[in-house]
Amino acid sequence: MPELEAVIGLEVHAQMSTKSKMFCSCDNDAFGKPPNTTVCPICMGHPGTLPVPNAEAIQKSIKASLAIGCEIQKDNHFDRKHYFYPDLPPGFQISQYDYPIAKGGEVEYDIVDASGKVTGTHTCHMTRLHMENDAGKLTHRGTKTLCDYNRAGTPLMEIVTDPDLHSPQEAVAFAQELRRILIAVGASEADMFKGMMRFDASISLREKGSKKLNPRSEIKNLNSFKALEKALTYEFNRLNDLWEETGGPIKNDITVGWQDEEGQTKMLRDKETAMDYRYFPEPDIPPLHFEESEIEAVRKTLPSLPRELKSQYGSLGLDEASVRQLIDQPKLREMFDAVHDKTGDAKRASSLVLTQLLGFLNSNDKPVSEGPNAESILELFSKIDDGTISGNSAKDVLAKMVETGKNASSIIGEEGMQQISDDSAIEALVEKAIAENPQAIESYKAGKEAALGAIVGWVMKESKGQADPAKVNEMLRKKI
Ligand code: ZN
Ligand code: MN
Repeated sequence: MPELEAVIGLEVHAQMSTKSKMFCSCDNDAFGKPPNTTVCPICMGHPGTLPVPNAEAIQKSIKASLAIGCEIQKDNHFDRKHYFYPDLPPGFQISQYDYPIAKGGEVEYDIVDASGKVTGTHTCHMTRLHMENDAGKLTHRGTKTLCDYNRAGTPLMEIVTDPDLHSPQEAVAFAQELRRILIAVGASEADMFKGMMRFDASISLREKGSKKLNPRSEIKNLNSFKALEKALTYEFNRLNDLWEETGGPIKNDITVGWQDEEGQTKMLRDKETAMDYRYFPEPDIPPLHFEESEIEAVRKTLPSLPRELKSQYGSLGLDEASVRQLIDQPKLREMFDAVHDKTGDAKRASSLVLTQLLGFLNSNDKPVSEGPNAESILELFSKIDDGTISGNSAKDVLAKMVETGKNASSIIGEEGMQQISDDSAIEALVEKAIAENPQAIESYKAGKEAALGAIVGWVMKESKGQADPAKVNEMLRKKI
């Protein structure tokens, strides 16, 4: 038995984050809304209605295409893809067939081990990216099927890769990098829990070293990275066993479905021939044409991509996990950048944003989106810098900011957390400390330096953290 290698290609469907649907003005955010409430005659395919392409969706497709290195096709158009499905009211999907919006491209991605160490860097080439609309959603209840058309007409990007991936781990690592890129450029929220990113994976086997492409098995509808990895691993082993039995690859392309509960694939279609979808150019939508200047205008709006961010933050001496958090969460990054720009101190920015703030958010069960923003973090910082509060009480103010959603100044005002900078007030506290801690004073006098710390601590406690510890320390030394 020769040594075999997997040849894997992906088709990725990502829901675009636009205000309205692909061809009508219906709300594109149907999450949590009652069934069939974000629909209109256009997305329901009523006779006499006309689809109008969504300019925002086209912009976002161009943006995503540029971010993965595709070449934008200046002339492209929509096609009708015909098939019957109960959640597809018009009886066809509006997609792009032979003239998609973008072709080519490549994505570089890292393979990372369990400890977060990069063990390899690979490149996956793209075949194409095209736009299309989504179907609705079916829910099966016993013998009945319920249709919810809220998702019908949602704009999708379909990204097709070359068969450049050679293990389930590579497929997952690539898909995760692609997800980061789509989020970074704002093309998709790619929220896996909401089904905003879905995969179809094709896998075939060949003798290692061979360049031949054998018939493949296509696994449909994988909705998570875990499912992608498990399904590809299962199918690799299955095809491997078949090779051992028959002495070669499968004879023709097949389509299988992944059954998550059983942990296995199930045959859907054998001896697959090219499906006849009767594609033809969509007669209701004129072909699209872009000028070079329009494409360049979009290119100018591209933000730093995850890999650029990675080297940028990595060079600040942050650990891999912190860098990953900053790449994956733009709002955290904004706050980190704000503090870092102001202080030039990456350690301080990371301790405030990634340790303290994230810690408070977690203990309050709040997502980053519900926490303070960069502006309010900077306000907190200015209160430390101008001496209004001590670094110590800043932590308490931050905790209250997360808890209540109020800004730093109102919390400091309401809770009376201003630092005591008035010398006479501190002097009174210091005198009280000396009077009430005779033993600590004795041991300090006897040469035990640590005893002073205990007295400073007493003053800090007595002042509810509002005294300036440096000042207290200095005054204590003078008085004893
Ligand atoms: Zn609609
Ligand atoms: Mn598709």
